[in-house]
Amino acid sequence: MAENEKYFAGLDIGGTTVKTVLVDEMGEVAGEMVEVRSQVKDGYKATFGQLESALDQLTSAIGVGRDAVRGIGMDVPAPSCDGVIWGLANLAEDWVGTNVRDELSERLGGTPIYMTNDGNAAALGEYAVRRKHIGGLLLIAPGTGLGGGLVLPGGRAYEGSNGLALEVGHISSPYHEDDGELPQCSCGKYGCLEAWVSLVALRRRIGLELEKPENADHPLNDGSPVEEKAFRLRDFAQDGDELAIAIFRQQGQILGYGIADLVRVFDPGLVVLGGGLAESEGFRDDYLNWVKEGFEERGWPMYSQSPIDPDKITTRFEWARGGDSAAALGVAFSAREMFR
Ligand SMILES: [Zn+2]
Repeated sequence: MAENEKYFAGLDIGGTTVKTVLVDEMGEVAGEMVEVRSQVKDGYKATFGQLESALDQLTSAIGVGRDAVRGIGMDVPAPSCDGVIWGLANLAEDWVGTNVRDELSERLGGTPIYMTNDGNAAALGEYAVRRKHIGGLLLIAPGTGLGGGLVLPGGRAYEGSNGLALEVGHISSPYHEDDGELPQCSCGKYGCLEAWVSLVALRRRIGLELEKPENADHPLNDGSPVEEKAFRLRDFAQDGDELAIAIFRQQGQILGYGIADLVRVFDPGLVVLGGGLAESEGFRDDYLNWVKEGFEERGWPMYSQSPIDPDKITTRFEWARGGDSAAALGVAFSAREMFR
């Protein structure tokens, strides 16, 4: 290996593990992804130790020293501004208020670090794996909650003035429950999009539906925990069960309304849907159709195709394809852009 070879590392810090990758100057992935325990609950210094160990594994696997890493991209599962985490999330208390970006950089001998949140990192990763894509990209990822991120044409994440942009799960959704109330969100507010479109929302919806007299004989009313019911619901929907389809369809449509509003603001050109559904070949096609139903109902036609040239699609929808390492890859690419 030549001495002047440069590499850029991506460190995706999650609640339980850190996923790490290296890319070279050309943006090619070098070696394999390395995953280590994040130990975020043991304080940030414990995690730093894990990060150093991962960096050593990544570099030794391709036969270079750690000094070949010229820049690092790092993402954290919490709102942060300029290297400082502002909210607790699933981290130990000492993460909050500390400039973890600068402390880690110092510990690594001055290697420059770009730090962002996990939603932005995943969006950057989806951008990175679409090598020929040059427009914008809006990622929407329904999981336990509802995350997302926006990449501007050219490849930078839009983070806002304080790193607080793109909290897509907490924009307002105009839907009300049958009793006229707005559902409460995990953030404490009422009527957030995430309160309709997330695993948490799905569980609540299943519970409410199964309490209705007309659903008393539904096979899911078998006394099993609601967490388990939520996982079985997709199989029921795929087998044509009306209740399961209605629940997913409602969720998909409400997500479509939310995406229509976001597209009206950002006009990203490409909407990438992530989260667990991206892995469910077959079912995800149905789900995407429901999302598009909502999108087209609420958005104007010009957000679907050009009124002048019907061949020009103005908003394309795709499923995420970055997989497990998308966020790590995304921040590694950003580090390469910034520090090469
Ligand atoms: Zn909320």
